[in-house]
Amino acid sequence: TTFEGIDLEEALNQNIQRCRFVKPTPVQRHAIPILLAGRDLMACAQTGSGKTAAFCFPIISGVMRNRRQLPTKGPSDGDLTTTFPRALILSPTRELSSQILGESKKFAYHTGVRVVVAYGGTPIGHQLRDLEKGAEIIVATPGRLLDLLERARVSLKEIKYLALDEADRMLDMGFEPQIRKIVQQMDMPQPGLRQTMLFSATFPQEIQRLASDFLSNYVFLTV
Ligand code: AMP
Repeated sequence: TTFEGIDLEEALNQNIQRCRFVKPTPVQRHAIPILLAGRDLMACAQTGSGKTAAFCFPIISGVMRNRRQLPTKGPSDGDLTTTFPRALILSPTRELSSQILGESKKFAYHTGVRVVVAYGGTPIGHQLRDLEKGAEIIVATPGRLLDLLERARVSLKEIKYLALDEADRMLDMGFEPQIRKIVQQMDMPQPGLRQTMLFSATFPQEIQRLASDFLSNYVFLTV
């Protein structure tokens, strides 16, 4: 199987070639068409399976297809701006977030889709300045994202795509209350406008509960 059977934008096919990906990994072969069809997805996949590309390509494609006239940032109080990303990728750690940022920037090359990162453990100033330029995709750890939401520097009102990466690790690290708070903000004013993808190496009861709370009519994939 090649990537040719997968219906992605030309710019994305070029980026796949640029990355020297010759054929899709199993999780990519199955997840990408499901996500392009607009379905929610629960995927059990390990690190190294190619899961990052499996959720990034459909997200970038969706953002490209549904480019609306809405600005990705807007005026807030005084000199502050609020950024309205279309996609949120939540990950447990700074290391994983910066890995996802690096990969997604390669995948979004020449598409006009901007990706920014927000993780804790580092001063917020640089991330704020990067956000101020506007972004379609934000890669974030839960704690730092909540900080940005409380400062009204990011709004989740325009989120159409939500990916939770390494969900089991996020729960192990105690992030469940933060994740629920974040998703709650996305469900205002009404739920169901977003497409949600949950990636986890394991599928214990806590993850099954998250899946039934966050996903609607989802496809279950295990590779
Ligand atoms: P991940 O599981 O997302 O952390 O990806 C593991 C590594 O595999 C990353 O370095 C990717 O760049 C690489 N990779 C992802 N998809 C492919 C592919 N289809 N062919 C070759 N390498 C890939």
